[in-house]
Parts: sequence; C-alpha cells; structure tokens
Amino acid sequence: MTGMWIIRYAEIALKGGNRAFFEHALLRDIKRRLTGCGAPAVTRTHGRLWVADDPRHREQVRRELLLLPGIQSISLAQKCANDMQTLKTRGLEIFRAAWSGDEPARFRITTRRADKRYPMRSEEVSRELGAHILQNAPDGLLSVSLGDPELNLHVEIHGEFAAIYLVVEPAAGGLPIGTGGKVMCLLSGGIDSPVAAWQMMRRGCKVHHVFFENRTFLGRGAFDKVERLSQRLAHFQGKSTLTAVPFSDIQVAIRDKCEPRNRVVLYRRFMYRIAERIMRRHRCLGLVTGENIGQVASQTLENLRAVDITVEAPVYRPLLCMDKVQIIEIARQIGTFETSIEEAQDCCSVFLPKHPETRARIENMEADEVHLDVAALEQQAIEAAESITLS
Ligand code: ATP
Ligand code: MG
Repeated sequence: MTGMWIIRYAEIALKGGNRAFFEHALLRDIKRRLTGCGAPAVTRTHGRLWVADDPRHREQVRRELLLLPGIQSISLAQKCANDMQTLKTRGLEIFRAAWSGDEPARFRITTRRADKRYPMRSEEVSRELGAHILQNAPDGLLSVSLGDPELNLHVEIHGEFAAIYLVVEPAAGGLPIGTGGKVMCLLSGGIDSPVAAWQMMRRGCKVHHVFFENRTFLGRGAFDKVERLSQRLAHFQGKSTLTAVPFSDIQVAIRDKCEPRNRVVLYRRFMYRIAERIMRRHRCLGLVTGENIGQVASQTLENLRAVDITVEAPVYRPLLCMDKVQIIEIARQIGTFETSIEEAQDCCSVFLPKHPETRARIENMEADEVHLDVAALEQQAIEAAESITLS
C-alpha cells in the first residue's frame, strides 16, 4: 500500500469550460507550496489531485494543504488494488489502526465508484466490507450506524486502484490565487487588515499592499511589523509588493489646519486617494481594507461613506460584517495573529482628538480640506513612497 493525499476542489469543478485553467493554477500552487516539504509528486487524475505521502513531511504537508486557497478538503488515503479480497484485508487493517479494539464504536462504510464498470455496486462493496469488519471484531463491540458513525471508512474505487481513508478534513475552500485579478490592500499592523488580505486571496485574488507610515513620530517599528505580516501573506500567494508611503507631513498639516474632531476621517481620505493612485500603477482592480462596521468609533457607516466618496475605485471590505472573535480565529489560523498583537502604534493614533467624529458629513470634510494643499501633499507622499518585493 502507498499513502496518498486526496485533494478535493469542489468549487473549481463547477467552472465548466474554465476547469482546466483552475486545475492547473491549483496544481502549480500545490507544487510551489510543497517544495519546502520534500517536493512530493503531485498528479492530476480522476477529477482530483493526488499528493504522495511521505511520513517525514506529513504534518507540514497537511498544514500547507489546509491553508491553500482552492482546496475544499483533504484526506490521507491508502492506495491499494481494487479487488474485493484486497479491499477486505486493507480495509480491516486501516480500520483497526484507528479503532482501539476494546471500546464500543459505531461505524459505517461509504463506498463511491468513480469507475462504474466495476463489477459490484457501491452498496454491495460497503455491505461486504462492513460484514468482514464485524466478523473480525470482538462480539458486540461494533455496531453499524449509517446516520451517526464514529468511524466512517471511505472506499473510492477507481479504474486501476482503490483509495481507503477514514478522515475528511475541511480546508480553506475558495479559489486558486491569481485566478481572480489583483487588488491593493491598505495594510496596517493590526489584526484586521492581514485577515482582509487573506480573505481576498482565498477568493483567488493576488494582493499587493500599501502602508502609511508616520516615521517621524513613531519610528520604524510599525514598518517592521507590516513587512513581516506581508511576508507571511506572501507565503500563500508568492511574489507581491509592499509600498510604504510617508504620512507624517500629511498628519502634521491636518493637525495644524483642520478641525481636531475630523482628523481620523481626513487621514483616511488621504490614505484612500493615495492608495488609489498606487493601485493604478500596479494595475489592481480595487482597494481592500480591514474595516468592520462599528468595531471602533471611526468605522461607522457615515464615516465609511465619507472616505469612500473620495475614490472611484471599488473598496472591498471582506470583514465588514464579521465579529472580532471570528477575525481573531482566522488570524490565528493563517499565522498573523502573534505578529499583529506586538506592541507598535499605528499612525492613525497620532494626534488623536478627545472627541473624534463618528457621524462625518461629506460637506464638512470637503470644507476642512480646503485649508490644505491636498494635491501637493499627496504628490510629495507618492514621490517619497518606497516599494519592496516580497516572495
Ligand atoms: P487593523 O487591525 O487592520 O489595523 P483596525 O480595527 O485597527 O484595523 P483602523 O485602525 O481603524 O482599524 O483601520 C481601519 C483600516 O484602515 C485598516 O484595516 C486598514 O485597512 C486601513 N489602515 C489603517 N491604518 C493604516 C495604515 N497605517 N496603513 C495602511 N492602512 C491602514
Ligand atoms: Mg489599526
């Protein structure tokens, strides 16, 4: 018997004529991600992808596959000949390896024939294999339960072989990265924006990043954090860019010339407009932020509207309606949480007024910006921006 990972990709299978394109993208991603895990053979047959199992790299391969956009679920299966005698011997062996043998257990067999020419029907295989397992167990310990089994032994019958496994692990789902176009994420060092970037990647987008930095007042600590976060995200998507835009002069101008209560919304309006220009350079199709309705005082619907209006580009907010616990759970899964909670101030917290605006009116924001040379401030910031490539 040889061990194989079965990779299922439900949603790609729905893509009709584009199916081969999506499959190849996923195949390429799997190969790229597994080079660091002994570069196991990856093959594409029977509407599935198969990855050779190597016990030395098993855990690492498992972790990578579970976080690879485009994969619906995975199973570690044993591949063997598909005649009934072999199915009985191997099936029992695999079942016994998972069941202690001295505790009562409910079980079932689930058979699927990918090859309909196989001489027995799926139910017949299940019944015969189930009976064999019962015969070989101590009296009365095992019972069959189709609806609520503790152990579900799956048998897939293919043309030249069978695959047997017990566990189906749900993976990230979504679509392979790069099949959905490019977007530009406003990445801060917080918990939310890396998760927002990941959500877009999970739906097939390639994500570039832009970070606004107040180096004058806060030093380089925040940049270091954002760089590490974007590097972690590059682990999933490969080559991407991080553009750091100096933001101190803009913040000082806003502090000196505008209403204190408008500061945070005005910061955001500048961020969005600048991000839109950088986005165009990278031929991205929209902006992404980690904003979430009502999570903090600045993220009311009124405030979001007052920043949205400054750009033509669509603004995607994948976390808009999620709860913080959900966001934190994803941050942990993708490995950004620990970095995000490191101490480092974001520029938005500089010159924070006592009573920030929570119901921003567009006219008031526009009237306040008249006190600034918006075009010149933005031009200077863009000219001083620096990009790095991550891979
Ligand atoms: P996060 O955890 O992503 O920082 P947050 O809950 O702290 O989010 P805010 O600080 O209000 O929320 O920021 C809202 C969004 O604005 C962020 O998710 C991010 O997309 C963007 N943003 C905020 N500060 C910056 C920054 N310095 N550079 C780039 N984008 C930023
Ligand atoms: Mg923040």
